[in-house]
Amino acid sequence: MYSDLRINKQRLWDSLMEMAKIGATEKGGCNRLAATALDGQARDLFVSWCRAAGCSITVDKMGNIFARREGKNPDLPAVATGSHLDTQPTGGKFDGVFGVLAGVEVLRTLHENNIETNAPFEFAVWTNEEGSRFSPAMQGSGVYVGRFDLEAELNKTDINGLVLRDELKKIGYLGDAEPGSRNIGAFFETHIEQGPILEDEDKEIGVVRLGQGIRWYNIVVTGRESHAGTTPMHLRADAMSAAALIVTEIETIALAYANGVGTVGFMDVYPNSRNTIPGTVKFSGDLRNPDPKVLEEMDARLKAFCANIEKSRGVTVEVDPFWYFAPVKFSASDNVKIAAEKLGYSHMDIYAGAGHDACYMADLVPSGMVFTPCKDGISHNEIESTTSEQCEAGCNVLLHAMLEASESMQ
Ligand SMILES: [Zn+2]
Repeated sequence: MYSDLRINKQRLWDSLMEMAKIGATEKGGCNRLAATALDGQARDLFVSWCRAAGCSITVDKMGNIFARREGKNPDLPAVATGSHLDTQPTGGKFDGVFGVLAGVEVLRTLHENNIETNAPFEFAVWTNEEGSRFSPAMQGSGVYVGRFDLEAELNKTDINGLVLRDELKKIGYLGDAEPGSRNIGAFFETHIEQGPILEDEDKEIGVVRLGQGIRWYNIVVTGRESHAGTTPMHLRADAMSAAALIVTEIETIALAYANGVGTVGFMDVYPNSRNTIPGTVKFSGDLRNPDPKVLEEMDARLKAFCANIEKSRGVTVEVDPFWYFAPVKFSASDNVKIAAEKLGYSHMDIYAGAGHDACYMADLVPSGMVFTPCKDGISHNEIESTTSEQCEAGCNVLLHAMLEASESMQ
């Protein structure tokens, strides 16, 4: 079906560059945190583009946006795609945005060619994928699939105490549709790889088969503040020294397992004073692995290590494993592979190292992901970069994967 149909490379690129102006940073990146006025502007632009191409718009109670293009049979479940428009504070121009605008380009291609697809198509923007301003990440899609409670998430506050519900309302995106109520039959997400593998293997398309499992921790080490000069070493309960050992252990654990990664990216030291032995150190922990059993072992090892530190260091260590994201299987990625082959793009199977909205959508419907290379594998950075040809390839694959899924929708 429509085997000659291709997206418009230049139009896709121009849209990416236009969106990147909203929240543009000096170093060429984007700072567009979830539910800020800038996020509102980006959403408005998306909505205007989708309306211009004939879509109707629905916003749900979590602020997720769905632009719908009718198909031959309006009762069929829709083939959907989407990603996010929010960024990290020092984010790039492509993370998430490429997935949303690849959808818009698919929409425009269908629209200008007057193609009536079998099933309806929907184009989604998920609220707060980044988890930067409000925690956790993938909050909008998580609520949509029922992993998180709507009210609890809407009541979350940012670092200034601003409530997500109010912030969504302010930008005009607190909708009234029930999360989870769209009639969707398959979901696809196109995303830059955010890692170096495709570039290294010289492949245009990554067929994402698995999503990496993630465990997030809040760790609090409590010792005792005392004078840095007058307290002998053997009489200290130094929360920082104990925390440092745990930080190092997280790296050791990651290195001990194939495909393991581990990170401590946040630390809060109390009282944070040069002349006082730290009494409390709060920090984040992040362990990931695509194999659920291995991730469990990594988790057990971290907890055992922390228990030992308590004993040997005379401090208390609280480990709150507040978020677990199970590894995901992308069962609709066969359509991605078929499309890549049909279009003659080089491709390889790959797993997703980061969390994505499609990982949650996989709970509800067959989902697939298309990865494209990004320069030096760098993402969550203002210098994040990719080419219009790389975007074109990913978007063409998305188009044909969606058409393929639409044909088989019943
Ligand atoms: Zn993303």
